[in-house]
Amino acid sequence: MAATYDAIVVGGGHNGLVAAAYLARSGARTVVLEGRHKTGGAATTEAPWPDAPEFSVTRLSYVMSLMPPTIINELDLPRHGYRIYPMGPYYQAFPEGGSIKLYADDAKRNHDEVSRWSKKDADAMPKWDAWLEGLAEVLGPLLLTVPPAIGSRKPRDLAETLRLAWRHRGLDVRTIADVTRLMTMSIADLLDDWFESSQVKGALAVNGVIGTWAGPYEPGTAYVMAHHSIGDVGDGHLGNWGFQEGGMGAVSTAIERAARSHGAEIRTGARVARVLVDGGRVTGVVLDNGDEIRAKVVVSTLHPKTAFLEHVGKENLPEDFATDIEHWKSRSGVVKINLALGELPDFTADPGSNLQEHHTGSVEMAPTMEYIERAFQDAREGRPAARPFSDGVIPTAFDKTLSPEGTHIMSLFTQWVPADWNEEPHTAELEAYADRMIDCYNELAPNFKASILHRDIVGPYEMEHDYGLIGGNIFHGELSLEQLFHMRPAPGYADYRTPVDGLYYGSSATHAGGGVCGIPGWQAARAAIADKKAARRTGQVRRIIRRS
Ligand SMILES: Cc1cc2nc3c(=O)[nH]c(=O)nc-3n(C[C@H](O)[C@H](O)[C@H](O)COP(=O)(O)OP(=O)(O)OC[C@H]3O[C@@H](n4cnc5c(N)ncnc54)[C@H](O)[C@@H]3O)c2cc1C
Repeated sequence: MAATYDAIVVGGGHNGLVAAAYLARSGARTVVLEGRHKTGGAATTEAPWPDAPEFSVTRLSYVMSLMPPTIINELDLPRHGYRIYPMGPYYQAFPEGGSIKLYADDAKRNHDEVSRWSKKDADAMPKWDAWLEGLAEVLGPLLLTVPPAIGSRKPRDLAETLRLAWRHRGLDVRTIADVTRLMTMSIADLLDDWFESSQVKGALAVNGVIGTWAGPYEPGTAYVMAHHSIGDVGDGHLGNWGFQEGGMGAVSTAIERAARSHGAEIRTGARVARVLVDGGRVTGVVLDNGDEIRAKVVVSTLHPKTAFLEHVGKENLPEDFATDIEHWKSRSGVVKINLALGELPDFTADPGSNLQEHHTGSVEMAPTMEYIERAFQDAREGRPAARPFSDGVIPTAFDKTLSPEGTHIMSLFTQWVPADWNEEPHTAELEAYADRMIDCYNELAPNFKASILHRDIVGPYEMEHDYGLIGGNIFHGELSLEQLFHMRPAPGYADYRTPVDGLYYGSSATHAGGGVCGIPGWQAARAAIADKKAARRTGQVRRIIRRS
């Protein structure tokens, strides 16, 4: 006999866990099926060195920012261990000497810092911050909006499109122009309009290329920067970037505990092989060991190619939808390098290996726009970057749970290697790439190389084969313009529903996804719960009509 539940969630990444928590909270008997030996997906804390189990790293994602207060509060996550240390400033030391620090919320110190490089840029900074804030006020609430099926003539879709237009009736010509610029420009061109010094432009370009298969001169990268800079999604201010105590896996654990507290069952080592569809309706799933599990509701949180092409099958999907998913872009070229350090980097520009403010935020390797662009062009031409770009962080500046007293963990989010490195492990080349990355930091902090106790390198192949991140893309799909909002994951299906009745979709490849924000999982669960209520109401009306 197949086991039966009200709802099955495929994938125990943070979105799957959020979906399960909300479904269970609504009263549905819910099971999460996670293929790996543990939950969390890309939000995971692991001990990668068997001979040094006292060190833990956030192996893939490394900082929090976009999770909305609604989810944190409704799931009571702080009670389940969600605890964020706000990050310190952005920091870049320069090969030619000197450094820059940029603060998330200290205009006076930003002015002093930027003045060291350009007085004109220092004066432009407050206007830039105000400009971004204005745009974030427009874009932020859109993150919690279910995208309408733009172009559809169905009355419900038309009503949703009109409602969205009505909500934005207050926008003026200037704001629309600014949003258009943001959506279409490259981060390099945008910053050229505002600033003159290469140091400031390099610093502000970082968020435009994080996780993106695009250099800073590619159109659309201005939007990627904004996506990472949004402060308020309409239900309260988001935290600034911060470190979860215990690493990103502790975020997943907190959500898992919330889901269990509402009665959800969580199974690891339960890899789904197929989603069962009968007459256009979902009926359950089959695991790779042949076990069948039945449910009228299935929420998948896997990469779209796995969720739809592999699990549902083209034969059960409309042709245009299947083609859209086949064309879904998931390149990235990201390599994560996790290090255990015997001491903190001692930067020539800001000497000392004692804990200082510049160790507490992001410790970057993005000295200029040209440096970042060169790293991308190397990869585009088929070679790993000779001098990679890196967004580094040292969570142990705050979090003492990850490594023994006196030691540190440093996480380097680096780019780029060629987009097809998901197809082969490229182990030796990744080692050489990591050596070069470390050499770049060593030029700025000469104690760096010698301070490394252990290193762990996760390339695109491992991301795809061990974590299910097809192509190695960190967001289950690029945040490029043609894959945003009503196009994510496919036109006509951006409302977390799918062409199969009862099958919902809530991975990072849906709107608002990209990042550990939980919004896709939350929206997919809400869609399933709303449809169930609507079906119940329709059933009641039918029964009344039959009786009368
Ligand atoms: C290197 C890296 C750095 C990142 N840095 C950040 C960051 O600092 N901040 C941030 O906000 N975001 C970051 N991200 C992005 C963020 O981590 C992801 O967008 C997010 O974690 C995806 O969550 P998800 O639940 O949608 O999918 P996933 O986390 O991918 O979860 C999907 C789950 O499904 C499981 N699975 C796969 N196939 C099957 C199957 N057949 N059956 C059952 N289970 C299956 C997987 O094992 C996985 O647990 C980063 C990602 C990467 C890779």
